[in-house]
This record gives sequence, C-alpha cells and structure tokens, in this order.
Amino acid sequence: MTLADLADLLGIACPEGLRAITPVGFSIDSRTIRPGDLFFAIHGKRFDAHAFVPEVLARGACAAVIHRPLPELEPAAARCLLVPDTLRAMQELARALLHRWGRPIVGITGSMGKTTAKDLTALTLAPYGRIYASVGNLNNEYGLPLAVFQMLSDGRRMADYDVAVLEMGMNEKGEIARLCEIAPPDVSVVLNVAPVHIENFPDGLEGIAAAKAEIVHGLKPTGTAILNADDPRVARMAAIVLARRQEHSGAQVMYFGRNEASHVTALDVTSRGLLGTTFTLSTLKGQAAVELPLVGEHHISNALAAAAVATHFGVSPDAIAAQLRLAQPGPHRGVVRRYAGGFTVVDDSYNSNPVALQEAVRLLEQVPDARRRIVVAGEMLELGEQSREMHIACGRALAHARVDILLGVAGHARDLVAAAQAEQNHGMLTDFVETAAEAGRWLASHVQAGDVILIKGSRGVRLETCLEALPA
Ligand code: ATP
Ligand code: MG
Repeated sequence: MTLADLADLLGIACPEGLRAITPVGFSIDSRTIRPGDLFFAIHGKRFDAHAFVPEVLARGACAAVIHRPLPELEPAAARCLLVPDTLRAMQELARALLHRWGRPIVGITGSMGKTTAKDLTALTLAPYGRIYASVGNLNNEYGLPLAVFQMLSDGRRMADYDVAVLEMGMNEKGEIARLCEIAPPDVSVVLNVAPVHIENFPDGLEGIAAAKAEIVHGLKPTGTAILNADDPRVARMAAIVLARRQEHSGAQVMYFGRNEASHVTALDVTSRGLLGTTFTLSTLKGQAAVELPLVGEHHISNALAAAAVATHFGVSPDAIAAQLRLAQPGPHRGVVRRYAGGFTVVDDSYNSNPVALQEAVRLLEQVPDARRRIVVAGEMLELGEQSREMHIACGRALAHARVDILLGVAGHARDLVAAAQAEQNHGMLTDFVETAAEAGRWLASHVQAGDVILIKGSRGVRLETCLEALPA
C-alpha cells in the first residue's frame, strides 16, 4: 500500500513527494520506530506524540500522520499527512483495509486466555489456508489497528492471507463494540468471564459478561458465535444469535467445552503434569487423540475453542490434533523451566486473578513427583473494592490445596497468606514479602532439589523478575 492509497482510503490529501512511498511498517511508539515506518502521532491521555514527530522523521520514518499542523517542522511538514484525528485515522484505515481484503475474520475475546487461544487457533487453522494471527498481545483500540497493519508490513501483502485471527480485549463497556466496527468478525469466540478489570464494572461479573457479549452483537449478520458451554455467562450469549436467526438463517452457534451441550469437546482427559495433558478431541466430524503440550487443564478450554474454529472451517479432527501437538506456551504463560539445582519453575507470571490462580494451583497439585510444591502468589490487581475480600477467599481455598509452601508477594497478597495460615491445618508454611526482588532472594535461600515452584501474579507485580535471583 502506497501513501497515495492510504490517503485515498482515508479521503485526505497526500503531499506529492509522499505518494509513491510504501511504508515498511507502522508505529505509534517513537522509541521503536524503524527507518521506513509510518508514524501515527497519537494524542493519548498522558502524552501527545506530536512532540516526537521531528525526532521520528530524523530517524528515518517515511512520514508521520498528524492531526495538529506543526509549523515549526517546516520544511519537514511536507512529510506529514494531516487528518482530523490520528487514532480515528488508524482505526478507519484498518477498517477500510479489512473491508477491501474481504476474507474471514475470527475475533477472540474472554477474560483469560485470549492470546493463547489466538495462537492455538492460528495453529489449528493452518491446514485450512494461510492464517494471519497478530504477533503478541495487540488487542485494544491502538493494538487492533496495528495488528491489521502487520498484515502489510515488512513486504507482506494482505492478499497473502486467507483468514485473520484477531484478539479483542477490553477494560470497559463499549470497547469491544468499537473493535468490531473496525474488524467485524465472521466468527466470534468467547472464552470465559472472570473478575478481570472488575474495578471498572460496578455491576460486577454481569457487567463484564455484557461487555464481552459485544463481540457476538458485532458479528457479521450470518456469522458464527463459538461459545464456552462450561461458562454459563458465556453460554447464554447464544440467545443473541438465536434472536438474529429470524432474519439471517446463516447465523450459527457452536459450543465448545466439557459440558454435554458442546459440539466440540474433550473426553478422557488425563494430566501429564508438567508435560501437559492428553484427551480425545470429539467433534461432530469424528474423534482424534490429542497430546497438548501446555501445562494446566485450563488450556484444554483454549484448545477446544481453537479446535471449534478449525472445525467450523472444515479442518478434520486428525489434522487439528496433529497441529495441537505443536503448541508452545507464550512468554510467562505456563513456561516450564528446569534448573541445574534440580528444581523446576512454572513461570505463569504473565497475569493473575482469583480464577486463574486456582486453576494454576490445580496444575501444581497434579505434578506427580514434586518433593515440595511451592506457590509464589503475587497480588491480584484491578479488583477494586472487593480486592481484600477476594484475596482472603483465595487464601482460604489455597489452605486446602496440596501446597507445601505459600509465599505472598506485595499488597493484598498479605491478606491471602494470612487467610491461608488461619484456615489450614496440614502444616503448610506461609510467608510474605513486599517485592518481586525480595521474593527472588527468598527463593534463592529456600529452594531445594525436587521442588516445583509456581510463579503467578498480576502483570503490575512483575513477578518474573524474582527468577533473576535463581542460578540458571
Ligand atoms: P490479556 O488480557 O493480558 O491480553 P489474555 O486473555 O490474552 O490476557 P493469555 O495471555 O493467553 O490471556 O493468558 C494469561 C494468563 O491466563 C496465563 O498466565 C494463563 O496461564 C492464564 N489462563 C489462560 N487461559 C486460562 C483459562 N481458560 N482459565 C484460567 N487461566 C487461564
Ligand atoms: Mg492477551
């Protein structure tokens, strides 16, 4: 796409000298701009990137999209495209590009597992055709347009892809509806509803469910909703599609899960501890044996979601099973690291919430040959007024888990540890430290050969840094 095409799609003027240029990539971050990139100067809540335009142009950006004339830039102003609003322009450009491309879009949302399910869907769909899945976690009003632009960065062309798999996240009501305007899904996947960002939802989990349901409302008229039958708040979203079927008979619902209502399900689930799980994938098109190398049964749900999408596109159970065998955990999402000292760490430090913590602890319980099971539980953030209460409830639940040592890290994790200590009677050792660095020192002095250590905390606690204290 040349800048002349881009200007046409946006209905704006393009300076003569820019018309023939094809951007190498697209960026909103002056720190990571590369020569040849197109820079969008976003005016965000905390900063106005118009201030960085001279710098990014000096560093080789091919042009900058701005919404405020920058007279001080003369003569570099000739390398700027003026739009009414830079964020809107990014979103409109992404929308127009996807519309022109015209091929199927799979949108994935849920409180937990979006990135994992997106990557697994890219795997399971591969036998269908050339799949684009955004790299990393580009899932919000800035990230989604950038994810679309990745399809035509570094010499790639949108025409080289048959399907786009896009992650859609949200912090508040209305956000997913806006993302669906940019990228209206042919297939919408809803993974689960859990207390994540609950501080922004005065009506709690029901409010979160309503916000997630926007991805089903945002489906194309004949689109398919792929819903988790095991999560009642998600399963209920089928009503949105059923109401629509009166007008569009093509609209469909497909359920995945362990529940009997599921069209795509897992039978004979067996945990292989830190090697992952095995199960029989069962779909309306037949069955196949799956070895999933992701640790924790919660990933079966993400794998079933991915299998359901692939089934919708006609991929056979055998082909899906062969692809799932290739799954790899994303960074800090259940990565198993074995240390020379004979102990093992499950680094699940990417994020945490009360549901995800308990799922991860269940995994630890299933490791057969652990000498001691150690949980390093960082504070769970963004839980709003209920934060203390939720930490206490988690602590009480953990007291009954097969855990030998519980170390709380930061803030309300202190309450979690205190609740576990008060409740338990099987001699679990508990301790609390304020920072990830202290947790690292604690681990370095306590860990022994044969221990299995689960590291889990909210992103803001940056619990992965505690691993720096351990000898490789
Ligand atoms: P974000 O909102 O930050 O984009 P995400 O929804 O993309 O997160 P992932 O990055 O895939 O989620 O996973 C985040 C964490 O949630 C990981 O630590 C993973 O172990 C855990 N997790 C993923 N799926 C589930 C699930 N279905 N149930 C419980 N925990 C899960
Ligand atoms: Mg994500």
